[in-house]
Amino acid sequence: MKAFTYERAKSPAEAARAVNERTGAKFIAGGTNLIDLMKIEVETPTHLVDINGLGLDTVERTEDGGLRIGALVSNTDLAAHETVRRDYGVLTRAIVAGASGQLRNKATTAGNLLQRTRCSYFYDTNQPCNKRVPGSGCAALEGYSRPLGMLGVSELCIATYPGDMAVAMRVLDAGVETVKPDGTTRTIPIADFHRTWDTAPERDNVLEKGELITAVTLPKPLGGTHIYRKVRDRASYAFALVSVAAVMQPDGTGRFAVGGVGSKPWRSAAADAQLRNGASAAARVLTQGAVTTEENAFKVPLVERTLAAVLAEARAKGNAA
Ligand SMILES: Cc1cc2nc3c(=O)[nH]c(=O)nc-3n(C[C@H](O)[C@H](O)[C@H](O)COP(=O)(O)OP(=O)(O)OC[C@H]3O[C@@H](n4cnc5c(N)ncnc54)[C@H](O)[C@@H]3O)c2cc1C
Ligand code: SF4
Repeated sequence: MKAFTYERAKSPAEAARAVNERTGAKFIAGGTNLIDLMKIEVETPTHLVDINGLGLDTVERTEDGGLRIGALVSNTDLAAHETVRRDYGVLTRAIVAGASGQLRNKATTAGNLLQRTRCSYFYDTNQPCNKRVPGSGCAALEGYSRPLGMLGVSELCIATYPGDMAVAMRVLDAGVETVKPDGTTRTIPIADFHRTWDTAPERDNVLEKGELITAVTLPKPLGGTHIYRKVRDRASYAFALVSVAAVMQPDGTGRFAVGGVGSKPWRSAAADAQLRNGASAAARVLTQGAVTTEENAFKVPLVERTLAAVLAEARAKGNAA
């Protein structure tokens, strides 16, 4: 690991300024992704700004009947929160499908959204990787691509966004609240938060230098049946090959987002509109434009089969036509 300096921030604005002012500075929250990457020198920050003391660790009702989740709420606390379990069940289910109990105790809401890809070449500093070293090439294009992406990808990068929680947040239309180094704030719709790889795959998301996530907001509850189904190579402690987060209504309408297939959790209003016509129709629309490799082409039918299982589960619970 490369040497680095360290400070504890006293306020969100001060943390944002501290990261903005120093070349190579980064925030650290739970550290469960960042420290792993620092150990193998994929990440080499020169300075860490610890945000754990900022008090961004509460879950509160918003005026419009939604929820504001502090950036530092742990995955364990969020999944177990009474309101989340009752009104946003898809979020609880997605979180507990990820990592392990110990990791979820440390991992934070913002850190989870910002976790980096699991492409094996990203982790191997002997291999070309545009995401790790811009302009160096992409070893996965001609290499091992089975777990990698087919939507939002390009010749520059075919990595997937690996997380589970964000797939549920995408189906719930979450917003990401931030503060910038100049003190201004904004809310970024989750649909626009993670990027596609048509340019600059080294930038996973639209955050600017020094911009700190302070909270994630959820609109008022949707009702319906909440389902998260994750298909993976091992029964636990593995990332999704394909996952589906869905909220289905009693009349058979609903919404769904898919993980494990794209540069970001993938969702389309046109695919949602096809749910009443069944998994095949909805999956066909969702995967339109997919660019596959020989090794990951199986993900196209896997999306359909996973969605079919989700719709069957919703029907069994009496919530879909
Ligand atoms: C073995 C293993 C298995 C895993 N399996 C899964 C899985 O199946 N599913 C899944 O979804 N995840 C999985 N994870 C990933 C895990 O969920 C993430 O490591 C964790 O959520 C990251 O949160 P953190 O708070 O530790 O982030 P950190 O490691 O502290 O930070 C991650 C990144 O976010 C930045 N950051 C943190 N907070 C902020 C903020 N408020 N504003 C701006 N930037 C910020 C940091 O600078 C860093 O770049 C796994 C991890 C491991 C190690
Ligand atoms: S797919 Fe992306 S992360 Fe993987 S080697 Fe290619 S550029 Fe790097």
